[in-house]
Amino acid sequence: MTTVLISGASVGGPALVYWLHGYGFTTTVVERAPAPSPGGYAVDFRGASLKVLDRMGILAEVEARATRMGSMVYVNESGKAVATTTPEAFSGELEILRGDLVDVLYELTAATTEYLFDDSIASLDQDESGVDAVFESGLRRRFDLVIGADGLHSNVRRLAFGPESSYVHDLGYYASVFTVENHLGLDHTGRIFTEPGKTVGTYSARDNTEAKALFYFASDPLSYDRRDVPAQQAIIAEQFAGLGWEVPRLLDGLRTTPDFYFDSISQIKLDSYSRGRVALVGDAGYCASPLSGMGTSLAIVGAYVLAGELHAAGGDHVAAFRKYDVRMRGFVAACQKQGVDGARWFIPESKWFMVLRNLTFRMLPYLPWRRLIDEMPLKVGNAIELTTYEDLPQRPAAPRP
Ligand SMILES: Cc1cc2nc3c(=O)[nH]c(=O)nc-3n(C[C@H](O)[C@H](O)[C@H](O)COP(=O)(O)OP(=O)(O)OC[C@H]3O[C@@H](n4cnc5c(N)ncnc54)[C@H](O)[C@@H]3O)c2cc1C
Repeated sequence: MTTVLISGASVGGPALVYWLHGYGFTTTVVERAPAPSPGGYAVDFRGASLKVLDRMGILAEVEARATRMGSMVYVNESGKAVATTTPEAFSGELEILRGDLVDVLYELTAATTEYLFDDSIASLDQDESGVDAVFESGLRRRFDLVIGADGLHSNVRRLAFGPESSYVHDLGYYASVFTVENHLGLDHTGRIFTEPGKTVGTYSARDNTEAKALFYFASDPLSYDRRDVPAQQAIIAEQFAGLGWEVPRLLDGLRTTPDFYFDSISQIKLDSYSRGRVALVGDAGYCASPLSGMGTSLAIVGAYVLAGELHAAGGDHVAAFRKYDVRMRGFVAACQKQGVDGARWFIPESKWFMVLRNLTFRMLPYLPWRRLIDEMPLKVGNAIELTTYEDLPQRPAAPRP
């Protein structure tokens, strides 16, 4: 039986477990966090990924936990609406909090794989017949294959492909998202305020019981410690100091928030998604950036294709990885292009472009080519033709050691 070590238990990792287990592979997942991570921002699905969720049998459950967000409203400094988007523009065809999605995927796979939380791979050493992995905990194990599903700053990519600086393409922006009080009383909606190079927003979450604050800004590369949260919060406070609307109140939330996300808006570009017996899935291999709206779709579809090709190749991982690469390239390119376009649109660099954007949103319902614009993200979501791999044999979900 082929043994596969997967690093990362967020979206791509557990989705890969689901398929690999069904095809008869034995999987182990190592996750740096002490448990599946709850909460987080909203992520959405478009196009082909919905078909994959359906084939995994979890579409109904994801729909049951959907955010059901309505339109987002762009406001000016005094809170007056200046433009409104369609619900789909921000929330795709189906939107869920990332933590809820992680929950669904963990529940789906917990009994079929070995999960090692609170650990990480310290070294990988591959030869012709397998890969020796040493974990930070001191554990040593040998696997047939290793997959990195450990996100933008992938540990597996660093170990098998080399330093991140060779593959990361910063788009010139930073993003921060954290939970705050729903002090505006938003009901399944959000507000967005923009100044050239800066975008601040808030949207209701968990049936309006809380809200998320988001801060995006254009910047040259910043140097900061990725583990130093207070230092990152200070960057946000400094970048947005003096802005009007609800910005001071949202910044106040930094002091009490139970969670905090801060990172550059970047993409990962690799000439190949594998090196020998090691391959990458999701953000680790082809991050398209939060502003593509396609990251979760890429991870779910990528896991489906990678597992399907490994199964179809009947043990020839070289052939499987090559086909995985070929099948994903065009889809990744379309999603990454959307990431670049989305950033320009969401964080306009000039007053002039802000006015143009607001006018476009206002005029959209009356434009004859409205459907074309509406359907653009959907076209990207469907920029891959899903191969139907041989049906999964019904495998019992027996607990594993
Ligand atoms: C603010 C924000 C908004 C977003 N909005 C959207 C959206 O609207 N729509 C959308 O489709 N996508 C969105 N995304 C992107 C989406 O969240 C990602 O594309 C998606 O989560 C990628 O899944 P993944 O499994 O590849 O990686 P990740 O979700 O990044 O998960 C990586 C996992 O690996 C773990 N890990 C990291 N290092 C190690 C290590 N050394 N050892 C073991 N485990 C490790 C992490 O703890 C994590 O659990 C957004 C992202 C952000 C940040």
